Amino acid sequence: MNFPKEQFFNLLKQGVPWGLLALVILPIIFLAPIEAQQVSLLKTFLFSVVWATVLIVAKFGRFFALGLKIFTLFCVIAFTHRLTFYDVPFVSMLTYTAGCLAVLSGGFLLSNMKRAPWRHFLKTAYSVVLIFLFAVPFIYLGHYLLFDSPLNSDAYLALLDTNVNEAFEYITQFIGFGVLLSGFIVLLMIFIGCLYTLTDRRGHKWQIMLATLIMLVGTIRVVDQPDTIDLYAGFWVYKQQYANELEKFREMQKDASEHKKTYQATTGAQGETHILIIGESLNKYHMGLYGYPRDTTPRLNEIEDTGNLIVLNKAFSSHTHTVQTLTLALTSATQSNSQKYYTSPTIMDMAEAAGYETSWLTNQVMMGSWDSPISIIALGADTVKKYNTNIGEHAKTNDFDDVVLGGIDEVLKSAPNNNRFIVVHLMGNHGDYCLRYPTDYNKFHEDLSPEIFGEKLAGGNKQINCYDNSVAFNDYVVSSVINQLDATNHPATLTYLSDHADDVVNGRGHNSSNFSYDMTAIPFLVWTSDEYIPLYKERIDALRSNTETPYANEQLFHYIMGDLGIVSSLYDPSQDIASKLYRGDKNNLDIVHKKHQWNSAENPVYEYARLNNKWNDNEHGRVLPHRINSLGKLMDVRKFGLDGYETDLIFQDGIFKVSHDRKDVHDLTLEDLLEYELPGKSMKIWLDVKNLGDKTFEGALSRLTELDAAYDLKDRVIVESSTRSEKFADFSDAGFHISYYLPTGHIDDLLEEGDENGLKTEAQRVAEQARLQKLSAVSFDIKLYPFVIDYLESLLSPDIVYHTWDLKKSYEDKDIEAELDNTDYFSNARIKTILLDLPSKFHQ
Ligand SMILES: [Zn+2]
Repeated sequence: MNFPKEQFFNLLKQGVPWGLLALVILPIIFLAPIEAQQVSLLKTFLFSVVWATVLIVAKFGRFFALGLKIFTLFCVIAFTHRLTFYDVPFVSMLTYTAGCLAVLSGGFLLSNMKRAPWRHFLKTAYSVVLIFLFAVPFIYLGHYLLFDSPLNSDAYLALLDTNVNEAFEYITQFIGFGVLLSGFIVLLMIFIGCLYTLTDRRGHKWQIMLATLIMLVGTIRVVDQPDTIDLYAGFWVYKQQYANELEKFREMQKDASEHKKTYQATTGAQGETHILIIGESLNKYHMGLYGYPRDTTPRLNEIEDTGNLIVLNKAFSSHTHTVQTLTLALTSATQSNSQKYYTSPTIMDMAEAAGYETSWLTNQVMMGSWDSPISIIALGADTVKKYNTNIGEHAKTNDFDDVVLGGIDEVLKSAPNNNRFIVVHLMGNHGDYCLRYPTDYNKFHEDLSPEIFGEKLAGGNKQINCYDNSVAFNDYVVSSVINQLDATNHPATLTYLSDHADDVVNGRGHNSSNFSYDMTAIPFLVWTSDEYIPLYKERIDALRSNTETPYANEQLFHYIMGDLGIVSSLYDPSQDIASKLYRGDKNNLDIVHKKHQWNSAENPVYEYARLNNKWNDNEHGRVLPHRINSLGKLMDVRKFGLDGYETDLIFQDGIFKVSHDRKDVHDLTLEDLLEYELPGKSMKIWLDVKNLGDKTFEGALSRLTELDAAYDLKDRVIVESSTRSEKFADFSDAGFHISYYLPTGHIDDLLEEGDENGLKTEAQRVAEQARLQKLSAVSFDIKLYPFVIDYLESLLSPDIVYHTWDLKKSYEDKDIEAELDNTDYFSNARIKTILLDLPSKFHQ
């Protein structure tokens, strides 16, 4: 330690900037406003000082390259941990720091082993350790970058329940090899960087001893507290915990099957057959039955026409992953009742206890016996048929879902006078979508059309096409089972629901950490046989009255008990949607371990409907969405239950075409829109006709009159035009509500310039035109509101009303209610329509 003073200050000068680096970078990592909790200021300061010291010491001690590398490692770890696990507890930071310092000391010691014979081997081993330490956070970071979501416990479980082949399908669907290759190159570069970390040096004895001590203490801390370093040990800790849960579940199930008296249950059913089909990843907004503009469910639509099929519109899944959803759906556990699935009775237990003959047919991967909670539940059945025969490492779905039809036939033929409960678990619509249907179901293979999907989505989209084909195939499978069941001529029901949905349009799959409400948009269908209907009228009536009531599939346990006519103290009718005591609008609205709620402002299906009802309570269709120029966007309008919409029309070749752009006119017609509206729901429609004029008046009026005869338009449409021609009055004479579109640019300029005379002249012109055209209304961009109130209103006949648009406001704005309430125009009763922006993937 005999430094000359000069050298000391020199080193200090070189060391301090690096210390400052730590004091800048670590606070950025700990406090950055990402979607994660910030570390407290005190802890941030503490750890920044520790690492600043480490860097300065490394500079002094001439092992700076190594020090900087380990500091980088700590930064990567801290950032990734925060991103993935939301917060970084003090104990975790402590263990990570201890571990990093142990690695640093180890490297320091190795640099000092100039003479040891196996130092080359040790140095390589050290590099390998460093690569591993870097690679793990990079895997998490990579997951975040690829899926825009952290690799959390739901993803762990998906990994545990996934076989190699499924993982491969997932990778090819969502990642692609280019990305994989770049990931590999990054790791290779880290590897090379690690190889040249250690340079030979000679340390003092006390330095060696201190380094040894730090290495020992650090190592002990890591080995002692593995559960604090989730990044490295989290997966294994989780795996252990999951294995314990499964063990418990297994034992309980074994116990239940050995002593059938565990649960008390009876049933009044006689010779009934009930089939439950559990679909996979099916999003109802891709089913024609639920209003998807593509005809993906022709067979189920036909069955619906018979009146034996009940379609629930507000069912949703309580989670977005198979195991998490089904462990709740198939047992009495829910998110709020604090029961755990692995200590709860299952639907199989209850059916068995009530004397049902039970079967479970699955085309999902059921690897060995007993290795997933779903397999454990399945194995409670009297008969189990597995069609996914390629079990194990190389498992793949070599059969399409229709493979189950033969098995169902067999079960239906045996013991027809017994009560039977049959569960069918399909591979359904799981990614990779293109692998879920035979080639003759390759119905949708052309580019997505702008008429249905809007301009943004239009073009080649293999995922959506494949998904829709898989939905069409699923339609075939489910309707075939219904037909088989129908042919038994017994009291029977078939219930179809999906475990969860996929967010296909956004290409997000069903990853809970990348949650969207579309991932919960499951179908729920109940088919009942003619023989069943007279026996259970009350249940059918209750179901029909609940088609618009929210229903979480975690309550399935109780519905199944009701369906099977089971009498048991475990049955809760308030969770059975086919019971008149059902209370689903109040309870069970949680999603993904209570992270989300169905009745949340974040859920457009709930929130936009609520806004629509609130705004339009007194006046039908007062607030409406703007520019509905594709069938997809009109599906959104239906989905949100809005009162109506505005659309842009070009009159061409005798028909109204839906288009905003006069040059690029699409093939969608007004008639298509009218045809697609919900039957029975009279929507208010604002028709912005872009090209009304002397050449088109006659044809347009005659076409509109035709459409009126078929669709009753007069009472519900606004015909808007910017024409100044008197002939517009013909529409008024024919009984249509017509509105003049005030020239936005011109009037806005006058307002800007404060041109009093110009504004007065314009107001007089409009008022005169209103008389000649026999206008019912004027319509205008909301920025012209001062003109309308201050100049125009006094000149207009009082029975002329206003329609306006305020497109800076959107249904999705967080405080849209207050925003609208605070405007000066919202309370003006003369304004009969206000158009807002409606965000949609199908925008045209
Ligand atoms: Zn699933």
